[in-house]
Amino acid sequence: MVRIGAGFDTHRLVVGRPLILGGVRVEHARGLDGHSDADVVLHSVTDAILGALALGDIGDAFPDTDPQWRGANSQIFLDAALGQMRAAGYAVGNLDVTIFAQEPKLGPVKAAIRDHLAELLGVPATAVNVKAKTGERVGHIGRAEAIGCQATVLLRSPGA
Ligand code: MG
Repeated sequence: MVRIGAGFDTHRLVVGRPLILGGVRVEHARGLDGHSDADVVLHSVTDAILGALALGDIGDAFPDTDPQWRGANSQIFLDAALGQMRAAGYAVGNLDVTIFAQEPKLGPVKAAIRDHLAELLGVPATAVNVKAKTGERVGHIGRAEAIGCQATVLLRSPGA
């Protein structure tokens, strides 16, 4: 059995916050705003896993109105989804991620984000791909007002 899931998320870029993408701290003058650490990559990956399992979305389990998730490390959300995945008898087959950011340039950090995602998922780096696109200077991404991320994940039951 294989199951596929897709996730998408966007967060606003603001001054006074660290920029964390896929659990990796990226040097930049601004960071992403949100209730948690606003890691747009981990949020979209978490939603992709929940989507593959038909278990709703990250906001169902971790509402942004709940004070206990204020400033939370988004790895907590991912780990919870991975726990549900294992309980359902699935493992990650592969993950494909596209980050949309006009700034900063993500070319230099793509490999580090891929490696960290692979570690978090417990899969080889060859099972994870991280792509980066600019917003071509149009729209909220292109004006560097926000960073977006799309994730697609394939889950497989062992042996599939
Ligand atoms: Mg989010």
